[in-house]
Amino acid sequence: MKIGVYPGSFDPFTIGHLDVLKNAAGLFDTVFVAVLNNNAKSPVFSVDDRVEMIDRMIETEGLTNVRSGSFSGLLVDYAKQIGAQYLIRGLRAITDFDYEFQIDAVNRHLNPDIRTVYFMANPAHSFLSSSSVREIGEMGGSIEGLVPACNYEYILERLARQK
Ligand code: ADP
Repeated sequence: MKIGVYPGSFDPFTIGHLDVLKNAAGLFDTVFVAVLNNNAKSPVFSVDDRVEMIDRMIETEGLTNVRSGSFSGLLVDYAKQIGAQYLIRGLRAITDFDYEFQIDAVNRHLNPDIRTVYFMANPAHSFLSSSSVREIGEMGGSIEGLVPACNYEYILERLARQK
């Protein structure tokens, strides 16, 4: 069984994330979308909210081999705990590469048996980030088409309250 973990802040989960997830779901037997529980990042959406939105998206998209979860502490420890041999990340620009290059070295040091698989962003999503969704939403702009449709209303309403 090839099991992958797609970790991230997912604050909130965007259609850029969905594209990476669909690619991974086609490659692995099971994929866990794992929400990082790190309050130091001052997330807008709580971990429970983010997991709930991801669950709704999994259900709506019919991604039968995808599960959700959350973790705090070391990602490689979480991966080991759920039996995953692969980490999944998306690459948008060279800045992502720089960051991922460093994280990969650290993860290899911590657990040489776990490998990371990268998917290039769909060019249509290469400028899409959770932070841009938050900014647009907080300023009253349209985030339609930037987040999964099943979560659109919820995110919009929550961001409007954030102003
Ligand atoms: P993190 O805080 O761990 O970077 P994010 O939620 O911002 O968490 O992103 C999770 C992963 O998804 C990262 O590997 C990131 O590069 C990737 N990602 C984010 N947005 C996109 C996008 N639009 N297209 C492809 N990959 C993306």
